[in-house]
Amino acid sequence: MRMSVIGCGYLGAVHAAAMASIGHDVIGIDVDEQKVAALEAGTAPFFEPQLPELLAAGIKSGRLRFSTEMADAEGCEVHFLAVGTPQIAGGHAADLRYVDAAVAGLIPYLRAGDVVAGKSTVPVGTATALVSQLADSGATLVWNPEFLREGWAVHDTLTPDRLVVGAEADGAGERAVAVIREVYAEAIAAGTPFLVTDLATAELVKGAANAFLATKISFINAMAELAEASGADVTLLADALGYDTRIGRRYLGAGIGFGGGCLPKDIRAFTARAEELGRGDAVGFLREVDTINLRRRDRAVSLVVDALGGLVFGRRIAVLGAAFKPFSDDIRDSPALDVAVRLRGLGADVIVTDPAAIENAKSAHPQLGYTQSRDEALREADAVVVVTEWDEYRRDLTPEHAGGLVRGRIIVDGRNCLDSDAWRAAGWQYHGMGRR
Ligand code: NAD
Repeated sequence: MRMSVIGCGYLGAVHAAAMASIGHDVIGIDVDEQKVAALEAGTAPFFEPQLPELLAAGIKSGRLRFSTEMADAEGCEVHFLAVGTPQIAGGHAADLRYVDAAVAGLIPYLRAGDVVAGKSTVPVGTATALVSQLADSGATLVWNPEFLREGWAVHDTLTPDRLVVGAEADGAGERAVAVIREVYAEAIAAGTPFLVTDLATAELVKGAANAFLATKISFINAMAELAEASGADVTLLADALGYDTRIGRRYLGAGIGFGGGCLPKDIRAFTARAEELGRGDAVGFLREVDTINLRRRDRAVSLVVDALGGLVFGRRIAVLGAAFKPFSDDIRDSPALDVAVRLRGLGADVIVTDPAAIENAKSAHPQLGYTQSRDEALREADAVVVVTEWDEYRRDLTPEHAGGLVRGRIIVDGRNCLDSDAWRAAGWQYHGMGRR
């Protein structure tokens, strides 16, 4: 099928490349000329495992192209909307200006019968408002929310847990759903559940999924606070809870909390929309989820300060990690970088390292020290903070090796990803989150 993907960021570039890999003829369109030039040259403009291979194969096959011209979307049967929906400046709601601009730019090139499939995460009610904007074009709008995880984006796009498509309950809506079913025919044939809903439910599913995941993370982080006050160990608590199949162990990792380009802004936009709908009380708990999450960053900073006897000014601190999670170079609302910035604000000599996110981190926070080399970061450090659980730190770094580089054997494990016994046995002062 011929399809366009409007917006080629973390979501859109992966979607475009993945759709080409299953045989569709795809044009990715973005307003960012640099990004498009990189993608056209087969270079991934951000770090995402398997994306470079998929891009190269798609471009070589001739089924994957990129452009800055919306006119190149003309003639496609399906148009996926994958532009950003960041948090609005000065508020908690979603900024829909990119969605509006993309739709307005696309309208002149739509033909009757085309399907416009929204993938961006939007507040419930957005799609219904767009339906009237599209009315004269003869195109049909569906909402097909995206659940991919950065770091696993290619895998999640090609083999999703489920596909959700919201459409209006009329003939055009049914035809559009049939088109989307054809787009994903391979995944559906492989057993992926395909759920057809109304537009509002499809929009709500995405917000609700992120609200649930954020709540689960903040729940265990709240337990970490109780563990800290009572002398318990939150990692053992999480293991014990996780064996209960009604609860499950995933998303029960206590630490410095969630961040990135989705969860924080999505739970805020979800709450803001609920308030507009007069149902703010129903999701009032999400404010607490957000607050608990942010409090863990304070906790990580205070663990470092306390471990250094309150004397942080001028001390050298190695910060291992900058990305909001491993296997990504995304630093949007990264708790890792937030901890680094706060320590720097206290006068520490902070040196940050990360396998993928250094360049992004440098441009956002030029005041921090950076090195690509993990060992260089550790050299002469008075304290070490692990804030992104990359394998390079979690699995490959031994306490003996690190001990030979640092000045002070103090480690704060902001992700509870290290073997505390092994580090202590090697003479380190180990501090976890919510652990004795
Ligand atoms: P992003 O900022 O990486 O990418 C957005 C892209 O849209 C940018 O490249 C930007 O240049 C482009 N753009 C903006 N206006 C445009 C226009 N008028 N025409 C064409 N292109 C335009 O953002 P992202 O992380 O890819 O997220 C996109 C959407 O997908 C958001 O709504 C997000 O919440 C949602 N989402 C993201 C993820 C994720 O893991 N990143 C997962 C699921 C859903």
